[in-house]
Amino acid sequence: MAKKFIEAEMLKPDMKIFTSAYSTELTKCYSQEAIDSAPAADVQEVRHGSWEINPDGYYPYCSICKEEPQGRAMTKYCPNCGARMDGEENV
Ligand SMILES: [Zn+2]
Repeated sequence: MAKKFIEAEMLKPDMKIFTSAYSTELTKCYSQEAIDSAPAADVQEVRHGSWEINPDGYYPYCSICKEEPQGRAMTKYCPNCGARMDGEENV
């Protein structure tokens, strides 16, 4: 199932109204509805990769996009695809 990202801060005012105006059951119901109908946030899921060393040339390349970083710098994030280079693979 595709993940949906929402802005939590946007829902807080609604939650406040629900909890002050409705019973617990209704609050649960309306909260669920508010979460379901919230617009998807404009974010991209962080990808995790690692710098792999090419045995042919001893230069690093990104495990996600296979690009070499500029200057062969093994930075925290891949400058090409933005993957976080903490070595964890995406599940
Ligand atoms: Zn990359």
